Amino acid sequence: METPRLDLKCFSRIILKQEVLVRKLINIKNIISALLLVSIFCGLCSAVQADEGMWPLSEIQKLNLQEKGLRIDPALIYDPARQSLLYAVVEVGATGSFISEEGLLITNHHVAFGSVQAASTPEKDYLKHGFLARTRAEEIPAAGRTARITESFKDVSTEVLSVVKKKMSSSERARAIERKIKELAAAAEKANPDKRAEVAEMFPGKSYWLFLYTDLKDIRLVYVPPLSVGNFGGEDDNWVWPRHTGDFTLMRAYVAPDGQPAEYSLDNVPFHPKTYLKINPAGVKEGDFVFLLGYPGRTYRHLPASYIAYEQNVRMPAVADWYEWQIRLMEEMSRGSREVALKHEARIKGLANTMKNYRGKLAGLKRLEYLAQKQQEEEALRAFIQADPKRQAVYGQVLPGLEKIYKEMELNYPRNFVLENLRRSVVLFQNAMTVVEAVHERQKPDLERNIAYMDKNFARTKQRIGLTIRSSFYLPTDLAIFKELLKKAPTLSDNQRIEELSQLVSDGCNLDETVNKIFENTRLQEEEFIKNLWDRKPAELKQIDDAMLKLALALYPQYFKMEEANRARKGHLDELQARLVNIRQEFMGQQFIPDANSTLRLTYGRVEGYEPRDAVFCKPFTTVEGIVEKTTGCEPYDTPPALLELVRQKKFGRFINPELKTISVCMLYSTDTTGGNSGSPIINAEGELVGVNFDRTWEATINDFTWSHDFSRSIGVDIRYVLWILQELAGAGGLLAEMGIK
Ligand code: ASP
Repeated sequence: METPRLDLKCFSRIILKQEVLVRKLINIKNIISALLLVSIFCGLCSAVQADEGMWPLSEIQKLNLQEKGLRIDPALIYDPARQSLLYAVVEVGATGSFISEEGLLITNHHVAFGSVQAASTPEKDYLKHGFLARTRAEEIPAAGRTARITESFKDVSTEVLSVVKKKMSSSERARAIERKIKELAAAAEKANPDKRAEVAEMFPGKSYWLFLYTDLKDIRLVYVPPLSVGNFGGEDDNWVWPRHTGDFTLMRAYVAPDGQPAEYSLDNVPFHPKTYLKINPAGVKEGDFVFLLGYPGRTYRHLPASYIAYEQNVRMPAVADWYEWQIRLMEEMSRGSREVALKHEARIKGLANTMKNYRGKLAGLKRLEYLAQKQQEEEALRAFIQADPKRQAVYGQVLPGLEKIYKEMELNYPRNFVLENLRRSVVLFQNAMTVVEAVHERQKPDLERNIAYMDKNFARTKQRIGLTIRSSFYLPTDLAIFKELLKKAPTLSDNQRIEELSQLVSDGCNLDETVNKIFENTRLQEEEFIKNLWDRKPAELKQIDDAMLKLALALYPQYFKMEEANRARKGHLDELQARLVNIRQEFMGQQFIPDANSTLRLTYGRVEGYEPRDAVFCKPFTTVEGIVEKTTGCEPYDTPPALLELVRQKKFGRFINPELKTISVCMLYSTDTTGGNSGSPIINAEGELVGVNFDRTWEATINDFTWSHDFSRSIGVDIRYVLWILQELAGAGGLLAEMGIK
């Protein structure tokens, strides 16, 4: 495996804050105080353990992990030349890890939720009651789920950026980079026909890595705890501590008999991973060193204050309100019918998760006055740029340029909100637009298509539509969401107007009638009907008498335009952001690590509590007694009676936490995580599995923008609780034996 180099030292925001404060003090000519402050900060810096960072694996040799508590050779975690722990960690929507040589995987209940919902019916309600496959033959296909293993990665920045020419417009630049990325991936796949290749932007506009993956396509459910364990506390407890959720699920990966990745087939056999994680049933204790491997989705720590302002004032509040509205609608629709409720469960869970996360972030932004802090930092940066004419020439336009882009995004937000959410939230419109786009895109050569319609991805795109129709489409809900979005069309200002929608709801039209007519005259909920559309030509599509399809065709130019505008904006943003990173690094005398981008990362910390508020200290472990305390008998606190009885009888057995003299359920630790780290293995100093990460505390929802040892804590389920549930509640001794738990 080739190892890209980032050449970095340490990654801390303390220095910048220090600099800003020092400058302020100097400004007010309080030099003595400034010197004092520097010495205090220097003292602090040497005492504070810099835990921040979602580190690309190429960097771990530079982290001195052994000094921080790791007791194995870091090369056992990642070494291109040997079978390291890296190969035990998979991307399964979020993260999972292999825990047996027979392809057994552990991830979160909430990660597997959609697959469990898809497999459930009111008669066989696995979501509610849980599921255990007593034999391999009983394992259920986890519809649409794949497990991706990172095989290798290398720096391809030079190749990617070689296509950028001076005179290019922003959109030409973006298009050239996009094209080069696809070419590199195609060449890598040609050379490695059993692998998938993807180029990830590490620093947009600046550095790009080519990743090779193995994608396993036959994933099956093995054990799912009942909802009252796997989702104990539901949305009330989500994003907060203390937590008592048994948020884990077991799945198994299968491959064809020749060992190659293959779609589900009865002939398939369990996958044998190169490595898997050994479980330590003794768990961890307060103060222990732990690290996580996983696929964190997105962080935005290198973006400017103008981006934070846009998120804080425009996008996040609007999305949170919109999701809240949809959740209420779906809950209302679900009342009285388990069948209908099952259709909505995964959607509600996803919406609620994001909504609460955004509310947490907004509260965090306010609490930290983060925007003002960021603006202050930038003032110092501006002064640094202005102080040197050469710097001014290269970087002078970076911050104003970024500000202009985010202002424009703010102005266009109402219109884009309607277009984007029509497509995201209305299943029938989404189906129609996917067909229209596919039919147009598939006229182009493969490398010029939008990636969803490239040959290698098209089967999955089609499969996803079928899966959504079968598992989560409910017509009355779809219709109500559609109507709500249409209502917004006339409220758009003149320069934001979406003509095709305005016509639908113009004066004199009855909105209910219009909407009903479209829904009565469409067949885009029929898989067979859709199947017949994929291979049509654009002109043929126009002949089809289907109201939703006609609407999608009419709106297609708008979406096309929006995509072109997004591309041009991305080209411009990337170019400015790359320069921003350069000048910030120069200003701070530091090298940064890239923001999270769904590629494999490592983060480390300790099992430790925290002080979220004045005079409140949160301990790092919860226990089964806490479950009893929270239990009301009503969802989401409706603990299975058998579990309550086990606690009452103190049947703790070999998985007891010796310090607490009971079963510990969840734990807190000071790692740096975000969405996508769900299901990440929590690994001890010896490289053994001691828990499964699933969440963050309320204060840590702001991690995507900024991390602090003071308030950022991740939350995981203690492996001892997992094992105890498997043994005592599920009676899954066979699985324990498979994991090597004697
Ligand atoms: N709950 C998150 C996830 O689903 C994990 C996190 O955001 O901390 O990936």
